[in-house]
Amino acid sequence: MNRYEKAALMLAQGRVRVLVADEESTSAVVVGDHGTYRVDVYRDGMEVLMECSCPYHRFYTRRECSHIIAVAKISNLAPPAR
Ligand SMILES: [Zn+2]
Repeated sequence: MNRYEKAALMLAQGRVRVLVADEESTSAVVVGDHGTYRVDVYRDGMEVLMECSCPYHRFYTRRECSHIIAVAKISNLAPPAR
């Protein structure tokens, strides 16, 4: 399963709990396969920044993990760049 399929599955299983959602930011708690993570997607000037507390995202800082992809899908902000 790739990251996009995992993201869709987590959404379908109700593993994404939205804390904040408006035009400027989306914050959520995501229950992943190996832990529960905090995801923040927010606008910073012209950019949309995405952060997740999982080890994958911290190690590959420029890559969106499945948690970020899941939150970005339900966010009012721009989708993640591929
Ligand atoms: Zn993550």
